[in-house]
Amino acid sequence: MQTKFYVVGIGPGAADQLTPKARAALQEAQVIAGYGTYLKLIKPLFPDKEYLQTGMTGEVQRCQQALAQAQAGKTVAMVSSGDAGIYGMAGLVLQLAEGLPVEVVPVPGITAASSGAALLGAPLMHDFAVISLSDRLTPWEKIEKRLLAAAEADFCVVLYNPRSHGRPELLGRARQLLGRYKAPKTPVGVVKNIGRDGEQAIVTTLAELDETQVDMFSTVFVGNSQTYIQQTVAGPKIITPRGYLSAEQPEQPEAGR
Ligand code: SAH
Repeated sequence: MQTKFYVVGIGPGAADQLTPKARAALQEAQVIAGYGTYLKLIKPLFPDKEYLQTGMTGEVQRCQQALAQAQAGKTVAMVSSGDAGIYGMAGLVLQLAEGLPVEVVPVPGITAASSGAALLGAPLMHDFAVISLSDRLTPWEKIEKRLLAAAEADFCVVLYNPRSHGRPELLGRARQLLGRYKAPKTPVGVVKNIGRDGEQAIVTTLAELDETQVDMFSTVFVGNSQTYIQQTVAGPKIITPRGYLSAEQPEQPEAGR
């Protein structure tokens, strides 16, 4: 029998940032699988489900455990924070399900780049690159290459996994590499614990960024050459202009390209 295996992005954490489609998939599931942190966020919404808690390592084995539940005929939903297809489990589940009578259904969620950008203002109005600083599965040399290429091409950059306990120095190195092409005054935003207790948005610059404020529950945004900080009644916001105003403001011709 073919069973469904949903890979569900639950958004940053708050119940009101869980999409109705994700909610429906969780409702339909008999078993909800995922890391403890994420299950804690979901449990109050669906107290009567069967939960399969998985740890932070051994992803292959954990996915196989969840797939075994599906093969036993149960509808399974595996949750990831944000979007399950962005540094989440969707890819691995699809790979491991090859040849199995299990229909893998990815359900999108609001990724940290989106939810974090909203808290900072509008930093991603133009082309941007998303780069994870985790070198657990990607060689650091490749990460460096991507940082340099993105900076040289004047992309806005969103850094996921910006600072781990084990490798706290990587953010500083990333900042140096970006600084080869980006000016010290380039706006930088740090958003922490989006949609969770302790939610915080910090607006600073590449030169002034305090790396000790950044942890693994943070996402870091770095502007392009047009990005600026605007003071608003709600505090400083980061804006990357798309250029709509440039026809009326010829002094900003670059913004409209
Ligand atoms: N699938 C997730 C990303 C997982 S990688 C997504 O689409 O958002 C883990 C990284 O995501 C964290 O180190 C952090 O950079 C970012 N992140 C995920 N949830 C976050 C949150 N609630 N607040 C801030 N950053 C978050």
